[in-house]
Amino acid sequence: MQTPLTFAIDNRLPEILERVGQLFPQRKARRQLSAMDQLIYGLIAHGLPASVAMASYRRLRMAFPSLADLKRARPGALQAELIGVPAAALKAAAIPELLATIEEAFGQLTLDGLERMETEQAHRFLTSLPRITDEIAASVLSFAGQERTVLSVDKDAARPLRRLGLCEPGAPLSALPRQLIERSPVEWRSEEFAGLSQGMLRVADRFCHQAKPDCANCPLRSLCPSAEEYAQPSATVVSFPFGKATQRARTSG
Ligand code: SF4
Repeated sequence: MQTPLTFAIDNRLPEILERVGQLFPQRKARRQLSAMDQLIYGLIAHGLPASVAMASYRRLRMAFPSLADLKRARPGALQAELIGVPAAALKAAAIPELLATIEEAFGQLTLDGLERMETEQAHRFLTSLPRITDEIAASVLSFAGQERTVLSVDKDAARPLRRLGLCEPGAPLSALPRQLIERSPVEWRSEEFAGLSQGMLRVADRFCHQAKPDCANCPLRSLCPSAEEYAQPSATVVSFPFGKATQRARTSG
């Protein structure tokens, strides 16, 4: 019989959640988004920094306030509102199509029916929609039923998670949600995981940059084992006798 892998709860996580929560004065408003809002937001936000993604989503919803408007919209008209959004043409084509599929499946333009599905079944339905990735589906499920234990981690959110040592070194992106859930307090549910996921995105966007993290101003500095490393000069020159020298570059995580 295969021995299950077990990980200890990481006692830093409640404090990490508390600190990243303070980066979100608007977090309560965000939590009032419905699962359908989160689906469309997630589609638009994919590949965008969090700070730009909400502005793009708001611009689209100002132009098309109701879901019925969005479903009827021509892809060209939707694309015109998605200025600067990666793969805008493909996303604009996907929005009416996925809304039509949802209406056909649930009889109306709502994802409330997800709450009656098993998590796996709901996840499968969401990822069958055009351009909806595993990460977007997980973020939608965190808005559809408070008792689900789901977590979305994209490549930007993964950066601070890895540097904080909240996952196994070298673990693939697809393994991070499970590893993080295993290290989290058992009482955590969708609200905590959604907060952590959004918080990591915000930390990645504002402090934990790929090339040069701004650890000095990061609220997680005192909890992060990488902070000291990144405070060092960007490269160490190692001198050898006879005038030969080489540079040892640090990995960016
Ligand atoms: S302290 Fe530095 S490395 Fe750690 S999460 Fe913050 S910015 Fe990233």
